Amino acid sequence: MKHVIVIGGGIAGMQCAAELARGGIRVTVLEKQSDTGGKLRNWHKLFPSLTPAGEVLGGLNHTLRRLPNIDVRTECEAAELSPRRVVLATGEELECDAVVVATGFTLFDARIKEEYGYGIYDNVITSADLEEMFNTGKVSTTSGAAPRRIAFLHCVGSRDEKVCQRHCSKVCCVTGVKQAMEMKELFPAADVFNFYMDIRMFGPGYEEMYREAQQRCNIHFVRGRISEVSPTIDGRLQIKAEDTLTGRPLKIGVDMLVLLIGMRANDMNAVLEQRCGLERQTSGFMRPRDQFLHNTESNVAGIFYAGAVTAPKSVGESLNEGTAAARGVIEYLAAKECTDNSTIDE
Ligand SMILES: Cc1cc2nc3c(=O)[nH]c(=O)nc-3n(C[C@H](O)[C@H](O)[C@H](O)COP(=O)(O)OP(=O)(O)OC[C@H]3O[C@@H](n4cnc5c(N)ncnc54)[C@H](O)[C@@H]3O)c2cc1C
Ligand code: SF4
Repeated sequence: MKHVIVIGGGIAGMQCAAELARGGIRVTVLEKQSDTGGKLRNWHKLFPSLTPAGEVLGGLNHTLRRLPNIDVRTECEAAELSPRRVVLATGEELECDAVVVATGFTLFDARIKEEYGYGIYDNVITSADLEEMFNTGKVSTTSGAAPRRIAFLHCVGSRDEKVCQRHCSKVCCVTGVKQAMEMKELFPAADVFNFYMDIRMFGPGYEEMYREAQQRCNIHFVRGRISEVSPTIDGRLQIKAEDTLTGRPLKIGVDMLVLLIGMRANDMNAVLEQRCGLERQTSGFMRPRDQFLHNTESNVAGIFYAGAVTAPKSVGESLNEGTAAARGVIEYLAAKECTDNSTIDE
Protein backbone atom coordinates (compact mmCIF):
# COMPACT_ATOMS: atom_id res chain seq x y z
CA MET A 1 0.00 0.00 0.00
CA LYS A 2 1.34 3.47 -0.93
CA HIS A 3 2.18 5.78 1.97
CA VAL A 4 1.74 9.58 1.91
CA ILE A 5 2.82 12.01 4.63
CA VAL A 6 0.69 15.12 5.17
CA ILE A 7 2.58 17.81 7.08
CA GLY A 8 0.15 19.99 9.06
CA GLY A 9 -3.09 18.92 10.69
CA GLY A 10 -5.05 22.10 9.98
CA ILE A 11 -8.25 21.92 7.95
CA ALA A 12 -6.39 21.65 4.61
CA GLY A 13 -4.23 18.77 5.86
CA MET A 14 -7.18 17.00 7.52
CA GLN A 15 -9.33 17.23 4.39
CA CYS A 16 -6.43 16.02 2.22
CA ALA A 17 -5.73 13.06 4.55
CA ALA A 18 -9.40 11.99 4.46
CA GLU A 19 -9.51 12.15 0.66
CA LEU A 20 -6.25 10.17 0.35
CA ALA A 21 -7.52 7.46 2.73
CA ARG A 22 -10.75 7.21 0.70
CA GLY A 23 -8.50 6.61 -2.32
CA GLY A 24 -6.92 3.55 -0.63
CA ILE A 25 -3.70 5.23 0.50
CA ARG A 26 -2.04 4.90 3.90
CA VAL A 27 -1.65 8.38 5.40
CA THR A 28 0.43 9.79 8.24
CA VAL A 29 -0.55 13.30 9.39
CA LEU A 30 2.18 15.19 11.28
CA GLU A 31 0.92 18.00 13.51
CA LYS A 32 3.29 20.01 15.67
CA GLN A 33 0.61 21.19 18.11
CA SER A 34 -1.11 19.02 20.72
CA ASP A 35 -4.25 18.66 18.56
CA THR A 36 -5.44 18.89 14.96
CA GLY A 37 -7.49 21.84 13.62
CA GLY A 38 -4.88 24.58 13.06
CA LYS A 39 -6.11 28.15 13.47
CA LEU A 40 -9.76 27.07 13.52
CA ARG A 41 -9.26 25.74 17.06
CA ASN A 42 -9.28 29.40 18.14
CA TRP A 43 -12.01 30.79 15.88
CA HIS A 44 -15.60 31.16 17.10
CA LYS A 45 -18.08 31.56 14.22
CA LEU A 46 -16.96 31.52 10.60
CA PHE A 47 -17.86 34.10 7.96
CA PRO A 48 -19.95 34.26 5.89
CA SER A 49 -22.52 31.77 7.30
CA LEU A 50 -21.60 32.16 11.02
CA THR A 51 -21.20 28.38 11.27
CA PRO A 52 -19.39 27.54 14.54
CA ALA A 53 -15.75 26.65 13.77
CA GLY A 54 -16.13 23.73 16.22
CA GLU A 55 -18.80 22.23 13.97
CA VAL A 56 -16.45 22.18 10.96
CA LEU A 57 -13.61 20.71 13.04
CA GLY A 58 -15.95 18.17 14.67
CA GLY A 59 -16.99 16.94 11.19
CA LEU A 60 -13.38 16.65 9.98
CA ASN A 61 -12.18 14.88 13.15
CA HIS A 62 -15.09 12.46 12.98
CA THR A 63 -14.18 11.57 9.35
CA LEU A 64 -10.50 11.10 10.21
CA ARG A 65 -11.34 8.75 13.10
CA ARG A 66 -13.80 6.74 10.98
CA LEU A 67 -11.49 6.11 8.00
CA PRO A 68 -8.94 3.28 8.04
CA ASN A 69 -5.20 3.73 7.44
CA ILE A 70 -4.84 7.25 8.86
CA ASP A 71 -2.27 7.76 11.59
CA VAL A 72 -2.37 11.20 13.19
CA ARG A 73 0.82 12.08 15.10
CA THR A 74 0.46 15.21 17.24
CA GLU A 75 3.33 17.12 18.88
CA CYS A 76 5.34 15.99 15.89
CA GLU A 77 7.14 18.69 13.91
CA ALA A 78 8.53 18.15 10.42
CA ALA A 79 11.90 19.85 9.87
CA GLU A 80 12.97 18.78 6.36
CA LEU A 81 11.51 16.85 3.48
CA SER A 82 12.00 15.28 0.07
CA PRO A 83 9.41 13.39 -2.02
CA ARG A 84 10.39 10.08 -0.35
CA ARG A 85 11.37 11.12 3.16
CA VAL A 86 10.41 13.47 5.99
CA VAL A 87 12.83 14.31 8.80
CA LEU A 88 11.25 15.28 12.12
CA ALA A 89 12.62 17.93 14.48
CA THR A 90 13.69 15.04 16.74
CA GLY A 91 15.86 13.62 13.93
CA GLU A 92 13.54 10.64 13.28
CA GLU A 93 13.19 9.85 9.55
CA LEU A 94 9.96 8.64 7.92
CA GLU A 95 9.81 7.01 4.48
CA CYS A 96 6.94 7.70 2.07
CA ASP A 97 5.86 7.76 -1.60
CA ALA A 98 4.78 11.46 -1.68
CA VAL A 99 4.42 14.45 0.66
CA VAL A 100 1.70 17.09 1.04
CA VAL A 101 2.79 20.33 2.73
CA ALA A 102 -0.24 21.84 4.52
CA THR A 103 1.59 23.94 7.10
CA GLY A 104 -0.67 26.99 6.77
CA PHE A 105 0.34 30.50 7.85
CA THR A 106 1.52 32.56 10.84
CA LEU A 107 -0.47 35.39 12.43
CA PHE A 108 1.24 38.78 12.15
CA ASP A 109 2.71 39.87 15.51
CA ALA A 110 0.88 43.16 16.25
CA ARG A 111 3.58 44.27 18.72
CA ILE A 112 5.76 45.10 15.70
CA LYS A 113 3.40 48.02 14.93
CA GLU A 114 4.28 49.82 18.17
CA GLU A 115 2.25 52.91 17.26
CA TYR A 116 -0.99 50.96 17.88
CA GLY A 117 0.03 50.04 21.44
CA TYR A 118 -0.64 46.29 21.35
CA GLY A 119 0.93 44.69 24.42
CA ILE A 120 1.53 48.21 25.83
CA TYR A 121 -1.94 49.69 26.49
CA ASP A 122 -4.99 47.96 27.94
CA ASN A 123 -7.91 47.30 25.59
CA VAL A 124 -5.84 47.11 22.40
CA ILE A 125 -6.50 43.58 21.17
CA THR A 126 -6.20 41.63 17.90
CA SER A 127 -8.91 39.95 15.84
CA ALA A 128 -7.49 36.60 17.01
CA ASP A 129 -7.82 37.71 20.68
CA LEU A 130 -11.41 38.75 20.02
CA GLU A 131 -12.24 35.29 18.58
CA GLU A 132 -10.86 33.81 21.81
CA MET A 133 -13.02 36.20 23.89
CA PHE A 134 -16.11 35.15 21.88
CA ASN A 135 -15.22 31.51 22.60
CA THR A 136 -14.91 32.07 26.36
CA GLY A 137 -18.05 34.22 26.40
CA LYS A 138 -16.15 36.96 28.28
CA VAL A 139 -16.12 40.04 26.05
CA SER A 140 -15.44 43.27 27.93
CA THR A 141 -12.85 45.96 28.53
CA THR A 142 -10.02 45.18 30.98
CA SER A 143 -12.01 46.85 33.79
CA GLY A 144 -14.94 44.52 33.09
CA ALA A 145 -17.16 47.32 31.77
CA ALA A 146 -19.13 47.08 28.53
CA PRO A 147 -17.41 49.09 25.76
CA ARG A 148 -19.35 52.17 24.62
CA ARG A 149 -17.21 52.85 21.57
CA ILE A 150 -15.22 50.24 19.65
CA ALA A 151 -12.82 50.75 16.72
CA PHE A 152 -11.52 48.14 14.27
CA LEU A 153 -8.38 48.83 12.26
CA HIS A 154 -7.90 47.04 8.91
CA CYS A 155 -4.59 46.01 7.23
CA VAL A 156 -2.45 45.57 10.37
CA GLY A 157 0.66 43.78 9.08
CA SER A 158 -0.66 43.56 5.52
CA ARG A 159 -0.14 45.87 2.53
CA ASP A 160 2.59 47.49 4.61
CA GLU A 161 6.05 48.06 3.11
CA LYS A 162 7.47 49.10 6.49
CA VAL A 163 7.01 45.61 7.94
CA CYS A 164 7.86 43.83 4.65
CA GLN A 165 4.31 42.45 4.26
CA ARG A 166 3.17 43.85 0.94
CA HIS A 167 0.44 41.32 0.21
CA CYS A 168 -3.26 41.64 1.05
CA SER A 169 -4.30 39.01 3.61
CA LYS A 170 -7.66 38.73 1.88
CA VAL A 171 -9.80 37.51 4.81
CA CYS A 172 -9.33 40.37 7.32
CA CYS A 173 -11.81 42.82 5.72
CA VAL A 174 -14.64 40.33 5.99
CA THR A 175 -13.43 39.23 9.46
CA GLY A 176 -13.59 42.89 10.54
CA VAL A 177 -17.15 43.24 9.23
CA LYS A 178 -18.22 39.97 10.89
CA GLN A 179 -16.64 40.89 14.23
CA ALA A 180 -18.05 44.45 14.15
CA MET A 181 -21.55 42.96 13.67
CA GLU A 182 -20.99 40.47 16.52
CA MET A 183 -19.88 43.31 18.83
CA LYS A 184 -22.92 45.39 17.90
CA GLU A 185 -25.12 42.42 18.72
CA LEU A 186 -23.45 42.02 22.14
CA PHE A 187 -23.40 45.77 22.87
CA PRO A 188 -26.33 47.35 20.94
CA ALA A 189 -25.75 50.80 22.49
CA ALA A 190 -22.09 50.92 21.41
CA ASP A 191 -20.78 52.94 18.46
CA VAL A 192 -18.66 50.74 16.21
CA PHE A 193 -16.14 52.16 13.71
CA ASN A 194 -14.11 50.35 11.03
CA PHE A 195 -11.02 52.23 9.79
CA TYR A 196 -10.07 50.86 6.37
CA MET A 197 -7.89 51.61 3.34
CA ASP A 198 -9.97 49.58 0.87
CA ILE A 199 -12.81 47.19 1.55
CA ARG A 200 -12.17 43.84 -0.16
CA MET A 201 -15.21 41.59 -0.15
CA PHE A 202 -14.18 38.89 -2.59
CA GLY A 203 -16.41 35.93 -1.70
CA PRO A 204 -20.06 34.94 -2.09
CA GLY A 205 -22.24 36.58 0.56
CA TYR A 206 -19.45 38.92 1.76
CA GLU A 207 -20.74 42.08 0.02
CA GLU A 208 -24.19 41.37 1.47
CA MET A 209 -22.63 41.18 4.97
CA TYR A 210 -20.93 44.53 4.39
CA ARG A 211 -24.22 46.15 3.36
CA GLU A 212 -26.03 44.66 6.34
CA ALA A 213 -23.29 45.97 8.65
CA GLN A 214 -23.90 49.50 7.38
CA GLN A 215 -27.66 49.51 6.89
CA ARG A 216 -29.04 47.26 9.64
CA CYS A 217 -26.27 47.44 12.27
CA ASN A 218 -25.33 51.08 11.67
CA ILE A 219 -21.59 50.37 11.78
CA HIS A 220 -19.51 53.36 10.68
CA PHE A 221 -16.90 52.79 7.97
CA VAL A 222 -14.20 55.47 7.88
CA ARG A 223 -11.65 55.49 5.06
CA GLY A 224 -8.34 56.26 6.73
CA ARG A 225 -5.44 54.76 8.60
CA ILE A 226 -4.94 55.34 12.32
CA SER A 227 -1.62 57.12 12.85
CA GLU A 228 -1.37 57.02 16.63
CA VAL A 229 -3.01 55.53 19.72
CA SER A 230 -2.48 56.81 23.25
CA PRO A 231 -4.11 56.15 26.64
CA THR A 232 -6.25 58.85 28.33
CA ILE A 233 -6.42 59.58 32.05
CA ASP A 234 -9.95 58.18 32.27
CA GLY A 235 -8.74 54.75 31.07
CA ARG A 236 -9.83 55.09 27.45
CA LEU A 237 -7.77 55.17 24.25
CA GLN A 238 -7.37 58.21 22.06
CA ILE A 239 -7.10 57.51 18.35
CA LYS A 240 -5.65 59.96 15.81
CA ALA A 241 -6.51 59.33 12.17
CA GLU A 242 -7.28 61.09 8.94
CA ASP A 243 -10.56 60.63 7.11
CA THR A 244 -9.09 60.41 3.61
CA LEU A 245 -12.48 60.88 1.93
CA THR A 246 -13.12 64.28 3.55
CA GLY A 247 -9.44 65.14 4.11
CA ARG A 248 -10.19 65.98 7.77
CA PRO A 249 -8.05 64.87 10.73
CA LEU A 250 -9.94 62.86 13.34
CA LYS A 251 -9.42 62.42 17.08
CA ILE A 252 -11.76 60.06 18.91
CA GLY A 253 -11.85 58.33 22.27
CA VAL A 254 -12.66 54.59 22.25
CA ASP A 255 -12.94 51.87 24.90
CA MET A 256 -11.55 49.08 22.75
CA LEU A 257 -9.36 48.92 19.63
CA VAL A 258 -9.31 45.70 17.59
CA LEU A 259 -6.37 45.23 15.21
CA LEU A 260 -7.25 43.09 12.19
CA ILE A 261 -3.97 41.22 11.90
CA GLY A 262 -2.78 39.72 8.64
CA MET A 263 -1.69 36.25 7.58
CA ARG A 264 2.05 36.06 6.97
CA ALA A 265 4.18 33.24 5.56
CA ASN A 266 5.68 30.71 7.99
CA ASP A 267 9.41 31.09 8.81
CA MET A 268 9.74 27.40 7.88
CA ASN A 269 9.11 28.31 4.22
CA ALA A 270 12.67 29.71 4.01
CA VAL A 271 14.00 26.31 5.14
CA LEU A 272 11.84 24.57 2.52
CA GLU A 273 13.43 26.81 -0.12
CA GLN A 274 17.03 26.58 1.07
CA ARG A 275 17.24 22.92 2.07
CA CYS A 276 14.46 21.18 0.11
CA GLY A 277 14.68 22.94 -3.29
CA LEU A 278 11.11 24.32 -3.15
CA GLU A 279 10.30 27.74 -4.61
CA ARG A 280 8.89 30.66 -2.63
CA GLN A 281 7.05 33.78 -3.79
CA THR A 282 8.23 37.29 -2.86
CA SER A 283 5.49 37.32 -0.20
CA GLY A 284 7.28 34.36 1.47
CA PHE A 285 4.39 31.96 0.75
CA MET A 286 5.31 28.82 -1.24
CA ARG A 287 5.04 29.02 -5.02
CA PRO A 288 2.79 26.46 -6.73
CA ARG A 289 3.97 24.98 -10.04
CA ASP A 290 1.45 27.27 -11.76
CA GLN A 291 -1.59 29.28 -10.66
CA PHE A 292 -4.15 27.53 -12.84
CA LEU A 293 -3.77 23.88 -13.82
CA HIS A 294 -1.20 22.76 -11.19
CA ASN A 295 -1.84 25.02 -8.21
CA THR A 296 -1.53 22.24 -5.61
CA GLU A 297 1.75 20.93 -7.07
CA SER A 298 5.18 22.25 -6.11
CA ASN A 299 8.14 22.63 -8.48
CA VAL A 300 9.44 19.25 -7.17
CA ALA A 301 7.60 16.12 -8.43
CA GLY A 302 6.04 14.23 -5.50
CA ILE A 303 5.68 17.29 -3.21
CA PHE A 304 2.23 18.90 -3.12
CA TYR A 305 0.61 21.88 -1.35
CA ALA A 306 -2.79 22.38 0.27
CA GLY A 307 -4.31 25.43 1.99
CA ALA A 308 -2.83 28.69 3.18
CA VAL A 309 0.82 27.59 2.80
CA THR A 310 0.75 29.11 -0.72
CA ALA A 311 -1.34 32.28 0.00
CA PRO A 312 -3.99 33.68 2.37
CA LYS A 313 -7.18 31.66 1.88
CA SER A 314 -10.63 31.22 3.40
CA VAL A 315 -11.82 27.99 5.03
CA GLY A 316 -13.78 26.95 1.92
CA GLU A 317 -10.77 27.50 -0.33
CA SER A 318 -8.43 25.63 2.03
CA LEU A 319 -10.78 22.65 2.21
CA ASN A 320 -11.12 22.56 -1.59
CA GLU A 321 -7.35 22.58 -1.93
CA GLY A 322 -7.10 19.66 0.49
CA THR A 323 -9.33 17.66 -1.86
CA ALA A 324 -7.53 18.86 -5.01
CA ALA A 325 -4.07 18.04 -3.59
CA ALA A 326 -5.21 14.51 -2.67
CA ARG A 327 -6.51 13.92 -6.21
CA GLY A 328 -3.18 15.21 -7.59
CA VAL A 329 -1.24 12.80 -5.34
CA ILE A 330 -3.41 9.84 -6.40
CA GLU A 331 -2.84 10.64 -10.11
CA TYR A 332 0.91 11.13 -9.51
CA LEU A 333 1.25 7.76 -7.71
CA ALA A 334 -0.74 5.93 -10.42
CA ALA A 335 1.37 7.48 -13.21
CA LYS A 336 4.57 6.66 -11.32
CA GLU A 337 3.51 3.04 -10.85
CA CYS A 338 2.87 2.73 -14.63
CA THR A 339 6.35 4.13 -15.40
CA ASP A 340 8.02 1.89 -12.76
CA ASN A 341 6.23 -1.23 -14.14
CA SER A 342 7.13 -0.46 -17.77
CA THR A 343 10.80 0.04 -16.73
CA ILE A 344 10.78 -3.43 -15.06
CA ASP A 345 9.17 -5.00 -18.22
CA GLU A 346 11.93 -3.58 -20.42
C1 LIG B 1 -8.38 36.28 12.52
C2 LIG B 1 -8.78 35.31 11.42
C3 LIG B 1 -10.10 34.87 11.36
C4 LIG B 1 -10.51 34.00 10.32
N1 LIG B 1 -11.82 33.67 10.22
C5 LIG B 1 -12.24 32.95 9.13
C6 LIG B 1 -13.64 32.71 8.92
O1 LIG B 1 -14.49 33.12 9.73
N2 LIG B 1 -14.02 32.05 7.77
C7 LIG B 1 -13.10 31.62 6.83
O2 LIG B 1 -13.49 31.08 5.78
N3 LIG B 1 -11.73 31.81 7.04
C8 LIG B 1 -11.31 32.45 8.16
N4 LIG B 1 -9.95 32.66 8.35
C9 LIG B 1 -8.97 31.95 7.46
C10 LIG B 1 -8.67 30.53 8.04
O3 LIG B 1 -8.07 30.66 9.31
C11 LIG B 1 -7.73 29.77 7.06
O4 LIG B 1 -8.41 29.58 5.84
C12 LIG B 1 -7.34 28.38 7.58
O5 LIG B 1 -6.82 28.43 8.89
C13 LIG B 1 -6.28 27.75 6.64
O6 LIG B 1 -6.10 26.41 7.03
P1 LIG B 1 -4.71 25.65 6.82
O7 LIG B 1 -4.95 24.24 7.23
O8 LIG B 1 -4.21 25.91 5.45
O9 LIG B 1 -3.67 26.37 7.81
P2 LIG B 1 -3.59 26.44 9.44
O10 LIG B 1 -4.91 26.67 10.04
O11 LIG B 1 -2.51 27.46 9.68
O12 LIG B 1 -3.06 24.99 9.85
C14 LIG B 1 -1.73 24.59 9.58
C15 LIG B 1 -1.34 23.50 10.56
O13 LIG B 1 -0.02 23.03 10.26
C16 LIG B 1 0.71 22.85 11.47
N5 LIG B 1 2.14 22.94 11.16
C17 LIG B 1 2.82 24.04 10.71
N6 LIG B 1 4.13 23.73 10.51
C18 LIG B 1 4.27 22.43 10.84
C19 LIG B 1 5.38 21.53 10.86
N7 LIG B 1 6.61 21.93 10.48
N8 LIG B 1 5.18 20.24 11.26
C20 LIG B 1 3.95 19.81 11.64
N9 LIG B 1 2.86 20.63 11.67
C21 LIG B 1 3.01 21.91 11.25
C22 LIG B 1 0.19 23.98 12.35
O14 LIG B 1 0.44 23.70 13.73
C23 LIG B 1 -1.31 23.98 12.02
O15 LIG B 1 -2.04 23.09 12.84
C24 LIG B 1 -9.53 33.53 9.36
C25 LIG B 1 -8.19 33.95 9.46
C26 LIG B 1 -7.81 34.86 10.45
C27 LIG B 1 -6.39 35.34 10.50
S1 SF4 C 1 -8.39 41.93 3.28
FE1 SF4 C 1 -8.80 44.06 3.76
S2 SF4 C 1 -7.90 44.33 5.83
FE2 SF4 C 1 -7.02 42.47 4.97
S3 SF4 C 1 -5.12 43.17 4.03
FE3 SF4 C 1 -6.69 43.10 2.40
S4 SF4 C 1 -7.52 45.20 2.34
FE4 SF4 C 1 -6.40 44.98 4.30
